[in-house]
Amino acid sequence: MSKKPLKILIAAAEVVPFAKTGGLADVAGSLPKALARMGHDVRIVMPKYKQIREGNYLLDYPVEMDHHLETGILKQTRLNDGTVDIPVYLIANHQYFYRDRIYCFPDEAERFNFFCKAILGMLPLIGWQPHLIHCNDWQTGLVPMILQTKYADNSYYQTIGTLLTIHNLQYQGLFPRQTMSLIGLGDEYFTPERLEFYGEINFLKAGIVYADLVNTVSVKYALEIQTPEYGERLDGLLRKRAQDLYGIVNGIDYDEYNPATDQRIYKNYSLDSIDCKKVNKSRLQQEMGLPAGNAPLIGMVSRLVDQKGLDLITGIFTEMMDLGVQFVLLGSGDDHYQKLFSELKMRYPGQVAIFLGFNPDLAQKIYAGADMFLMPSRFEPCGLSQLISLRYGTIPIVRAVGGLADTIENYDQAKEKGNGFSFKPYEPGALLDTIRQAVALYQDQPGLWRKLIINAMKGDFSWNKSAQEYVMLYEKAIHQNLAMLYQVV
Ligand code: ADP
Repeated sequence: MSKKPLKILIAAAEVVPFAKTGGLADVAGSLPKALARMGHDVRIVMPKYKQIREGNYLLDYPVEMDHHLETGILKQTRLNDGTVDIPVYLIANHQYFYRDRIYCFPDEAERFNFFCKAILGMLPLIGWQPHLIHCNDWQTGLVPMILQTKYADNSYYQTIGTLLTIHNLQYQGLFPRQTMSLIGLGDEYFTPERLEFYGEINFLKAGIVYADLVNTVSVKYALEIQTPEYGERLDGLLRKRAQDLYGIVNGIDYDEYNPATDQRIYKNYSLDSIDCKKVNKSRLQQEMGLPAGNAPLIGMVSRLVDQKGLDLITGIFTEMMDLGVQFVLLGSGDDHYQKLFSELKMRYPGQVAIFLGFNPDLAQKIYAGADMFLMPSRFEPCGLSQLISLRYGTIPIVRAVGGLADTIENYDQAKEKGNGFSFKPYEPGALLDTIRQAVALYQDQPGLWRKLIINAMKGDFSWNKSAQEYVMLYEKAIHQNLAMLYQVV
């Protein structure tokens, strides 16, 4: 490493392997490992939810909620995979975090206001001062704001830079105006320049306004969110901060997602033994109650929400079935989609398998066993599922948007280039045409399909490159914060 090691605190509401609802958890659990391998002193902080059993008691401390004091109970565990050993701070508070789920409570504003204040409150007590706090998503959006307001004149905090990563602009942490006083924020914060957002409070906006730098999880999405179409009403602010807004594509943990060693799949394989992938397919078919054979098997592992383009899929379902494909979906989310896919399963027995729920083991079996992976998202900040699919030689069929556009290159048969299939217009017909092309190549050109699998598996979407880009961004943010500070002083 050329420069001196950085001290980075990664703050997130979910981190693999402790708590996960989506891609944020994967990133918050795998980026730190890549940074630690590069020699940086990286630590993680997250809430201690009821489901988290780990954690040794470190200390208790008062967390000032302006109108009253709450107690933060700080515990510590470690993220250790044999190569790195990362301290993980778990902030416990019985009232806020000892619950049966992670999110979706009426007092979210209070919970994550507490989390943000508790993050900053613990720092002087643990004898470790980060150069930068890497905030992730709205749950940590108040951290940069508190640093720049309440602690603006506090010499301990002044030198700490901030980066806010937006993993999904759709989730902003919006709360009614009266929450301001509930969480102890004065009216001076309720202005369009600060937290006010169309009459409500917006935690993500606080982060965008106050963080030294902001990034999203792909280059394309960083551009898209500056337009009204993808900007979720924050495009104006994001355009205003365009100079400080970057895109860094996510990586995936190549140790965790490795078909050669993954204990969750039926048979391990690698580039040298691609044929063993077929064993995964036949075992998956067997377990799913799908007939054995060479029918193209299309897989999906997804949150069942509008973002994922599910209406496109249901819009062409009959035609897709007519192509003779098999379809297996693992997902959880909106009732509407759960019901719809359950009905489709009844309508196509022996051709469709649907599993509602969150099941990381089954997810891996699908990534390994399917021939193709469907991800026709309406928008996609980065997307990890297509990257996991590539790693397992399962060919992604995606809509060319956000991170999907940045990572999936449409297959060019003449040049034998590309790693998947993609289409642009958000139209069922465009999706169907693309599935048709994929199915035709699979059925008619097995030799080319094999080469496509090789292309997919050869790509490098590990953290190596992206972690270096994060380090550059951290350095820039730290520098920018110090430059501002010394201008003012
Ligand atoms: P998002 O963060 O929008 O949900 P990503 O593609 O970035 O989408 O990440 C999704 C992650 O969550 C992937 O690791 C995927 O395998 C996992 N996942 C999604 N749904 C499920 C599920 N029902 N069971 C297990 N894992 C899931």
